[in-house]
Amino acid sequence: MDGFLSQGEHVVGVDIGGTKLMAVVYDHKFKVKGRNKRKSKSSKGEPTEERLTRTIQEALDEAHVDTIRGIGVGSPGPLDPRTGVIIDTPNLAWKNFPLAQYLKKTFKVPVVVDNDVNVGTYGEYRFGEVSDCESVLGVFPGTGIGAGIIIDRKVFYGFSGAAGEIGHMTLEVDGPYCGCGKRGCLEGLASRVAIAANVAALAARGDAPFILATCGTDLSAIRSGALADAVKAGEKMVEGVIRKAAYYVGVATGNAINILSPEAVVLGGGLVESMPELYLEEVKRGIKEHAMPFLRKNVRIVTAKLGDDAVVLGAACMIAERLGEFE
Ligand SMILES: [Zn+2]
Repeated sequence: MDGFLSQGEHVVGVDIGGTKLMAVVYDHKFKVKGRNKRKSKSSKGEPTEERLTRTIQEALDEAHVDTIRGIGVGSPGPLDPRTGVIIDTPNLAWKNFPLAQYLKKTFKVPVVVDNDVNVGTYGEYRFGEVSDCESVLGVFPGTGIGAGIIIDRKVFYGFSGAAGEIGHMTLEVDGPYCGCGKRGCLEGLASRVAIAANVAALAARGDAPFILATCGTDLSAIRSGALADAVKAGEKMVEGVIRKAAYYVGVATGNAINILSPEAVVLGGGLVESMPELYLEEVKRGIKEHAMPFLRKNVRIVTAKLGDDAVVLGAACMIAERLGEFE
């Protein structure tokens, strides 16, 4: 994975999350030279963009690097990847914020900003298990459910720039309400929040004593790790809820396979990481039942390999590859 940068050149990959900011400095072979991480939100009301600048600067200090070629950023959307403007990020209080322009001014280098799911998929496609594939679908179930689409070695953005909203694929026309206002979206049926709501109900009526003892019935406390522990502790009804949600992800993925015909599907995110086997089993079942046999034949279904580094690595690679556009 080299050839885009010359020896002695560096780029920075940035991951902007709802809870954490991370910046990593990479050399021309994408080896880590410096790394910095802090909470996204400041207790003293420091604006996110200033915290971000500090996070990047401290990663550069740690790497003992003064000059860089560019910065790649993965951020939650909605955003416009063509202009690098963050349209609305409620968690970070950014509204129509020109992030690419801001970082370009601050660090005097080219900047690309893209959706974190696209960037994470790109990282897995470049450095993970599916780097030999030309078309990859990345699906990341978490608080929301997003997909990254790579067709013929390029991220597919669509007319709007926002292609890949698999979380709002309708799976049950009369299903539960989703955060987007529609009914029966994948996200409303299978996100971590949807799972937590069902599991909290089980706990409240005495059907999930492990969850009740460890998390109570607070949805935000019922996280992926706790769910995985409950399954290990033998909580069958909790396992049933998770399996059903994973199956829905498989149904949606099967539908996406019918339309895109990818060579590989990569599944990532906290839920998949904490229960890879159980999760994969149900996703594969959903795909088998809902993708056309000819389209699913020989498609590799794998779990993500890069964990927390998928976005920083993908973002660093994206800017390195696109430096030519800024010359
Ligand atoms: Zn929705």
